[in-house]
Amino acid sequence: MRSAGIHHITAIAGDPQANLDFYTETLGLRFVKRTVNFDDPGSYHFYFGDNIGSPGTIITFFPWPGARRGTRGSGQVTSVSFAIPRNSIAFWKERLRANHVVAEEISDRFGNKALRFLDPDGLMLELMESPVIPNEGRMGHTVRGFAAPTLEVRHLERTERLLIEILGFEFLGEENNRRRLRGSGSNTAAEVDLVSADIGFGLVAVGSVHHIAFRVVNDEEQLRVRERLVERGLNVTPVIDRQYFHSIYFREPNGILFEVATDGPGFLIDESADQLGESLKLPPIYESARSEIERVLPAIQLQHAAAS
Ligand code: ZN
Repeated sequence: MRSAGIHHITAIAGDPQANLDFYTETLGLRFVKRTVNFDDPGSYHFYFGDNIGSPGTIITFFPWPGARRGTRGSGQVTSVSFAIPRNSIAFWKERLRANHVVAEEISDRFGNKALRFLDPDGLMLELMESPVIPNEGRMGHTVRGFAAPTLEVRHLERTERLLIEILGFEFLGEENNRRRLRGSGSNTAAEVDLVSADIGFGLVAVGSVHHIAFRVVNDEEQLRVRERLVERGLNVTPVIDRQYFHSIYFREPNGILFEVATDGPGFLIDESADQLGESLKLPPIYESARSEIERVLPAIQLQHAAAS
Protein backbone atom coordinates (compact mmCIF):
# COMPACT_ATOMS: atom_id res chain seq x y z
CA MET A 1 0.00 0.00 0.00
CA ARG A 2 1.39 3.42 -0.97
CA SER A 3 -0.40 6.67 -0.20
CA ALA A 4 -0.43 9.06 -3.16
CA GLY A 5 0.47 11.87 -0.75
CA ILE A 6 -1.43 14.70 0.91
CA HIS A 7 -5.22 14.76 0.75
CA HIS A 8 -5.82 18.03 2.62
CA ILE A 9 -4.44 20.23 5.40
CA THR A 10 -6.73 21.78 8.01
CA ALA A 11 -5.84 24.89 9.99
CA ILE A 12 -7.58 27.25 12.40
CA ALA A 13 -8.51 30.78 11.38
CA GLY A 14 -9.89 33.76 13.29
CA ASP A 15 -12.32 35.95 11.37
CA PRO A 16 -14.14 33.90 8.67
CA GLN A 17 -14.49 36.79 6.20
CA ALA A 18 -10.78 37.68 6.34
CA ASN A 19 -9.94 34.00 5.82
CA LEU A 20 -12.31 33.69 2.86
CA ASP A 21 -11.02 36.87 1.22
CA PHE A 22 -7.37 35.91 1.61
CA TYR A 23 -7.58 32.41 0.17
CA THR A 24 -9.87 33.31 -2.74
CA GLU A 25 -8.84 36.87 -3.65
CA THR A 26 -5.16 36.92 -2.72
CA LEU A 27 -4.12 33.29 -3.26
CA GLY A 28 -6.68 32.70 -6.02
CA LEU A 29 -8.02 29.38 -4.73
CA ARG A 30 -11.58 28.24 -5.37
CA PHE A 31 -14.01 28.27 -2.43
CA VAL A 32 -14.94 24.62 -2.80
CA LYS A 33 -17.25 24.06 0.17
CA ARG A 34 -19.07 26.17 2.75
CA THR A 35 -20.10 23.86 5.55
CA VAL A 36 -19.90 23.52 9.33
CA ASN A 37 -17.50 21.75 11.63
CA PHE A 38 -19.25 18.37 11.90
CA ASP A 39 -18.07 18.08 15.52
CA ASP A 40 -19.25 21.62 16.34
CA PRO A 41 -22.01 22.68 13.91
CA GLY A 42 -22.17 26.21 15.35
CA SER A 43 -18.91 27.05 13.58
CA TYR A 44 -17.91 27.05 9.93
CA HIS A 45 -15.68 24.68 8.03
CA PHE A 46 -14.31 26.22 4.82
CA TYR A 47 -12.62 24.27 2.02
CA PHE A 48 -10.43 25.90 -0.63
CA GLY A 49 -8.74 24.15 -3.54
CA ASP A 50 -8.67 23.78 -7.29
CA ASN A 51 -11.84 23.99 -9.40
CA ILE A 52 -13.35 20.78 -8.02
CA GLY A 53 -11.38 20.36 -4.80
CA SER A 54 -9.09 17.60 -6.03
CA PRO A 55 -7.20 15.72 -3.30
CA GLY A 56 -3.80 17.35 -2.87
CA THR A 57 -5.11 20.87 -3.46
CA ILE A 58 -7.43 21.30 -0.47
CA ILE A 59 -6.67 23.59 2.47
CA THR A 60 -9.50 23.78 4.98
CA PHE A 61 -10.19 26.05 7.95
CA PHE A 62 -12.16 26.08 11.14
CA PRO A 63 -12.73 29.81 11.73
CA TRP A 64 -12.90 30.51 15.46
CA PRO A 65 -13.61 34.25 15.73
CA GLY A 66 -12.08 35.78 18.84
CA ALA A 67 -10.11 32.67 19.84
CA ARG A 68 -6.49 32.96 20.97
CA ARG A 69 -3.56 32.64 18.61
CA GLY A 70 -1.52 29.46 18.52
CA THR A 71 2.26 29.20 18.57
CA ARG A 72 4.57 27.41 16.17
CA GLY A 73 6.58 24.60 17.68
CA SER A 74 7.43 20.94 17.45
CA GLY A 75 4.71 18.39 16.83
CA GLN A 76 3.18 20.57 14.14
CA VAL A 77 2.96 21.23 10.45
CA THR A 78 4.77 24.57 10.76
CA SER A 79 4.51 25.75 7.19
CA VAL A 80 2.00 25.00 4.47
CA SER A 81 3.63 25.05 1.06
CA PHE A 82 1.96 25.36 -2.32
CA ALA A 83 3.40 24.68 -5.75
CA ILE A 84 3.64 27.37 -8.43
CA PRO A 85 5.14 27.05 -11.91
CA ARG A 86 8.74 28.01 -12.57
CA ASN A 87 9.37 31.71 -13.24
CA SER A 88 6.38 32.71 -11.08
CA ILE A 89 8.18 34.28 -8.12
CA ALA A 90 8.17 37.82 -9.55
CA PHE A 91 4.45 37.58 -10.35
CA TRP A 92 3.63 36.43 -6.82
CA LYS A 93 5.90 39.00 -5.14
CA GLU A 94 3.99 41.72 -6.93
CA ARG A 95 0.57 40.20 -6.34
CA LEU A 96 1.22 39.76 -2.61
CA ARG A 97 2.63 43.29 -2.35
CA ALA A 98 -0.49 44.65 -4.08
CA ASN A 99 -2.56 42.84 -1.45
CA HIS A 100 -0.46 44.28 1.40
CA VAL A 101 1.13 40.93 2.27
CA VAL A 102 4.80 41.08 3.29
CA ALA A 103 6.65 38.22 1.57
CA GLU A 104 10.31 37.26 1.70
CA GLU A 105 12.20 35.16 -0.79
CA ILE A 106 13.84 32.31 1.14
CA SER A 107 16.95 30.43 0.07
CA ASP A 108 16.43 27.79 -2.61
CA ARG A 109 15.00 24.55 -1.30
CA PHE A 110 16.11 21.40 -3.12
CA GLY A 111 17.05 23.73 -5.96
CA ASN A 112 13.73 25.56 -6.21
CA LYS A 113 12.90 29.18 -5.45
CA ALA A 114 10.37 29.94 -2.75
CA LEU A 115 8.47 32.83 -1.14
CA ARG A 116 7.39 32.85 2.49
CA PHE A 117 4.61 34.93 4.08
CA LEU A 118 1.84 34.79 6.67
CA ASP A 119 -1.92 34.58 6.19
CA PRO A 120 -4.13 37.08 8.10
CA ASP A 121 -3.99 34.86 11.21
CA GLY A 122 -0.25 34.26 11.20
CA LEU A 123 -0.25 30.84 9.52
CA MET A 124 3.07 30.41 7.71
CA LEU A 125 2.69 29.78 4.00
CA GLU A 126 5.18 29.18 1.21
CA LEU A 127 4.89 29.32 -2.55
CA MET A 128 7.46 27.05 -4.14
CA GLU A 129 8.44 26.91 -7.76
CA SER A 130 8.13 23.35 -8.98
CA PRO A 131 9.99 21.91 -11.95
CA VAL A 132 7.25 19.32 -12.54
CA ILE A 133 4.62 21.94 -13.40
CA PRO A 134 4.60 22.85 -17.07
CA ASN A 135 5.62 26.47 -17.57
CA GLU A 136 2.64 28.80 -17.32
CA GLY A 137 0.27 27.69 -20.09
CA ARG A 138 -3.48 28.16 -19.72
CA MET A 139 -3.43 28.33 -15.92
CA GLY A 140 -0.79 31.05 -15.75
CA HIS A 141 0.91 31.45 -12.40
CA THR A 142 -1.89 29.93 -10.32
CA VAL A 143 -1.28 27.80 -7.25
CA ARG A 144 -1.37 24.06 -8.14
CA GLY A 145 -1.86 22.27 -4.87
CA PHE A 146 0.56 21.48 -2.08
CA ALA A 147 4.32 21.20 -2.34
CA ALA A 148 6.22 19.57 0.51
CA PRO A 149 4.84 21.25 3.65
CA THR A 150 7.18 21.26 6.66
CA LEU A 151 6.53 18.95 9.63
CA GLU A 152 8.68 19.86 12.64
CA VAL A 153 9.23 17.04 15.09
CA ARG A 154 11.43 16.17 18.10
CA HIS A 155 12.33 12.63 17.04
CA LEU A 156 12.39 12.75 13.29
CA GLU A 157 13.08 9.06 12.68
CA ARG A 158 9.82 8.04 14.39
CA THR A 159 7.63 10.09 12.04
CA GLU A 160 9.76 9.05 9.08
CA ARG A 161 9.38 5.36 9.91
CA LEU A 162 5.63 5.68 10.18
CA LEU A 163 5.33 7.49 6.84
CA ILE A 164 7.55 4.92 5.15
CA GLU A 165 6.40 1.71 6.79
CA ILE A 166 2.68 2.36 7.02
CA LEU A 167 1.83 4.98 4.40
CA GLY A 168 4.42 3.80 1.87
CA PHE A 169 6.39 7.01 1.47
CA GLU A 170 9.99 6.81 0.29
CA PHE A 171 13.03 8.87 1.24
CA LEU A 172 14.02 11.30 -1.51
CA GLY A 173 16.88 13.36 -0.14
CA GLU A 174 18.24 15.56 2.64
CA GLU A 175 19.30 19.19 2.65
CA ASN A 176 20.01 21.45 5.66
CA ASN A 177 18.53 18.98 8.16
CA ARG A 178 15.42 18.74 6.05
CA ARG A 179 14.46 15.25 4.90
CA ARG A 180 12.09 14.97 1.97
CA LEU A 181 9.76 12.00 1.63
CA ARG A 182 7.53 11.19 -1.27
CA GLY A 183 4.32 9.21 -1.71
CA SER A 184 3.33 7.43 -4.89
CA GLY A 185 1.48 10.35 -6.51
CA SER A 186 2.84 12.16 -9.52
CA ASN A 187 1.71 15.65 -8.47
CA THR A 188 3.60 18.03 -6.20
CA ALA A 189 1.33 17.14 -3.25
CA ALA A 190 3.04 13.76 -2.99
CA GLU A 191 5.86 15.23 -0.89
CA VAL A 192 6.42 16.23 2.75
CA ASP A 193 9.52 17.62 4.46
CA LEU A 194 10.55 16.51 7.96
CA VAL A 195 12.64 18.88 10.04
CA SER A 196 14.12 17.93 13.39
CA ALA A 197 13.11 20.57 15.94
CA ASP A 198 14.64 20.77 19.38
CA ILE A 199 12.02 23.29 20.48
CA GLY A 200 8.93 23.26 22.66
CA PHE A 201 5.62 21.90 21.50
CA GLY A 202 3.50 24.28 19.47
CA LEU A 203 0.07 25.33 20.64
CA VAL A 204 -2.69 24.54 18.18
CA ALA A 205 -5.06 27.53 17.98
CA VAL A 206 -5.73 30.40 15.55
CA GLY A 207 -3.05 30.60 12.85
CA SER A 208 -1.77 27.05 13.19
CA VAL A 209 -2.35 23.73 11.47
CA HIS A 210 -4.85 21.42 13.17
CA HIS A 211 -4.05 18.28 11.16
CA ILE A 212 -2.72 16.90 7.90
CA ALA A 213 -4.56 14.24 5.92
CA PHE A 214 -3.01 11.64 3.63
CA ARG A 215 -4.72 9.95 0.70
CA VAL A 216 -5.98 6.42 0.30
CA VAL A 217 -7.83 5.39 -2.87
CA ASN A 218 -10.78 3.68 -1.21
CA ASP A 219 -12.38 2.32 1.94
CA GLU A 220 -10.69 -1.09 1.73
CA GLU A 221 -7.25 0.47 1.64
CA GLN A 222 -8.19 2.73 4.55
CA LEU A 223 -9.16 -0.30 6.65
CA ARG A 224 -5.85 -1.97 5.82
CA VAL A 225 -3.97 1.14 6.96
CA ARG A 226 -6.08 1.26 10.09
CA GLU A 227 -5.26 -2.33 10.92
CA ARG A 228 -1.52 -1.65 10.62
CA LEU A 229 -1.80 1.43 12.84
CA VAL A 230 -3.60 -0.61 15.48
CA GLU A 231 -0.92 -3.33 15.23
CA ARG A 232 1.67 -0.64 16.01
CA GLY A 233 -0.19 0.26 19.15
CA LEU A 234 -1.41 3.62 17.86
CA ASN A 235 -4.72 4.92 19.11
CA VAL A 236 -6.74 5.37 15.93
CA THR A 237 -10.38 6.41 15.59
CA PRO A 238 -12.99 4.29 13.84
CA VAL A 239 -13.83 5.35 10.26
CA ILE A 240 -15.77 8.63 10.38
CA ASP A 241 -18.03 9.80 7.54
CA ARG A 242 -16.99 13.34 6.59
CA GLN A 243 -19.56 13.53 3.80
CA TYR A 244 -16.96 14.36 1.12
CA PHE A 245 -14.52 11.63 2.20
CA HIS A 246 -14.14 9.00 4.91
CA SER A 247 -11.54 9.52 7.60
CA ILE A 248 -9.54 7.96 10.38
CA TYR A 249 -7.42 10.01 12.80
CA PHE A 250 -4.47 9.30 15.05
CA ARG A 251 -1.53 11.12 16.65
CA GLU A 252 1.76 10.16 15.06
CA PRO A 253 4.61 9.46 17.51
CA ASN A 254 5.69 13.14 17.69
CA GLY A 255 2.21 14.42 18.38
CA ILE A 256 1.03 15.71 15.00
CA LEU A 257 -2.60 14.84 14.34
CA PHE A 258 -2.66 12.69 11.18
CA GLU A 259 -5.75 11.78 9.19
CA VAL A 260 -6.06 9.21 6.45
CA ALA A 261 -8.85 10.14 4.03
CA THR A 262 -10.40 8.48 1.01
CA ASP A 263 -10.30 10.23 -2.38
CA GLY A 264 -14.06 9.85 -2.77
CA PRO A 265 -16.89 10.63 -2.83
CA GLY A 266 -15.60 14.20 -3.31
CA PHE A 267 -17.08 17.69 -3.29
CA LEU A 268 -19.54 17.25 -6.16
CA ILE A 269 -21.69 14.93 -4.03
CA ASP A 270 -24.05 17.75 -2.95
CA GLU A 271 -23.62 20.57 -5.46
CA SER A 272 -22.54 21.01 -9.06
CA ALA A 273 -19.05 22.14 -10.07
CA ASP A 274 -20.22 25.61 -11.11
CA GLN A 275 -21.97 26.22 -7.77
CA LEU A 276 -19.32 25.01 -5.35
CA GLY A 277 -19.03 27.18 -2.26
CA GLU A 278 -22.04 29.37 -3.01
CA SER A 279 -24.40 28.09 -0.34
CA LEU A 280 -24.18 26.50 3.09
CA LYS A 281 -24.06 22.71 2.82
CA LEU A 282 -24.97 20.56 5.81
CA PRO A 283 -24.69 16.80 6.25
CA PRO A 284 -28.10 15.07 6.53
CA ILE A 285 -27.87 14.81 10.34
CA TYR A 286 -27.87 18.62 10.70
CA GLU A 287 -30.41 19.46 7.97
CA SER A 288 -33.29 19.62 10.47
CA ALA A 289 -31.36 22.23 12.50
CA ARG A 290 -30.51 24.38 9.45
CA SER A 291 -32.34 27.55 10.48
CA GLU A 292 -30.80 27.46 13.95
CA ILE A 293 -27.31 26.84 12.52
CA GLU A 294 -27.70 29.66 9.98
CA ARG A 295 -28.71 32.02 12.77
CA VAL A 296 -25.57 31.45 14.84
CA LEU A 297 -23.03 31.44 11.99
CA PRO A 298 -21.49 34.85 11.18
CA ALA A 299 -22.62 36.28 7.83
CA ILE A 300 -20.02 36.01 5.06
CA GLN A 301 -19.79 37.34 1.52
CA LEU A 302 -18.09 35.58 -1.36
CA GLN A 303 -16.75 38.56 -3.32
CA HIS A 304 -16.40 37.03 -6.75
CA ALA A 305 -15.02 33.93 -8.42
CA ALA A 306 -11.35 33.31 -7.67
CA ALA A 307 -9.12 35.24 -10.04
CA SER A 308 -5.83 33.97 -11.34
ZN1 ZN B 1 -9.29 16.65 7.88
